[in-house]
Amino acid sequence: MVLAQLGGSISRALHQMTNATVIDDKVLNDCLKEITRALLRADVQSNLVDDMHTNIKNIVNLQHLAAGLNKRKIIQQAVFDELCKMLDAGKPSFTPKKGKSSVVMFVGLQGSGKTTTCTKYAYYHQKKGWKPALVCADTFRAGAFDQLKQNATKANIPCYGSYMESDPVKIAVDGVERFKNENCDLIIVDTSGRHKQEAALFEEMRRVSEATKPDLVIFVMDSSIGQAAFDQAQAFKQSVAVGAVIVTKMDGHAKGGGALSAVAATKSPVIFIGTGEHMDEFEVFDVKPFHSSEYL
Ligand code: GDP
Repeated sequence: MVLAQLGGSISRALHQMTNATVIDDKVLNDCLKEITRALLRADVQSNLVDDMHTNIKNIVNLQHLAAGLNKRKIIQQAVFDELCKMLDAGKPSFTPKKGKSSVVMFVGLQGSGKTTTCTKYAYYHQKKGWKPALVCADTFRAGAFDQLKQNATKANIPCYGSYMESDPVKIAVDGVERFKNENCDLIIVDTSGRHKQEAALFEEMRRVSEATKPDLVIFVMDSSIGQAAFDQAQAFKQSVAVGAVIVTKMDGHAKGGGALSAVAATKSPVIFIGTGEHMDEFEVFDVKPFHSSEYL
């Protein structure tokens, strides 16, 4: 499960501390060193790790803790709260409402899993009784429309795109309008990607967003990008109003730390994770299990 490995390392560090006879500064520092190492190994951005370290040290001031207080518990709670803060964007993302037409735009680099995730997201909602539809506004990658259409056909979801039109904004606007007229309640717009963060991509995202006025923009991120996650997520956030994150390929060898960085960069929550290539390999991401004592 996502972040389980990280949770395991942190939990080991805390247990080691619990085994110590006396909790003093050395024990606390050793424990924090272990936690810091685990976070860095998991590719969490070093600035975030430093902040966490400082915050815990500020909260847990052993010299000033009144005698009789359970120091172990206070340290555990501080670590716990700081980890949750890292994963929690502070506010929930916009949630589409069944029966009320919402437009959701997907953005991300090429290869991040955007097109696959659009269909997974549509399929997930269709199973819950929604009437989703897919719009392919990716005119950059040859075959993008065919790929989306193929996935959509498998799931019996209507799909709009064009082999002739080269303007992604026009396709996006036409597709959204058509599906609004057909009373679809979840209109999903797949957009172009690039291999790198390029100005042309961000300008295109800005134009598609301005024209279709999405209720939610979802940033799709490959979990294996590690340390690059923060800058990538931030670059998208600066062009369009990213409101949620989906992390893909969590079934691979990803360490999951990039997800924490993407949350910090976009101030948006992770709402789903991709756990395979198939349409149903898709899970709601809930911070709560991480909040629970499962890992600590
Ligand atoms: P796009 O360029 O961002 O639209 O990316 P695609 O949707 O075409 O996905 C790129 C590759 O990643 C494809 O081979 C997908 O099957 C694969 N992929 C997408 N999501 C996942 C996932 O959650 N797990 C795994 N293992 N592969 C995925």
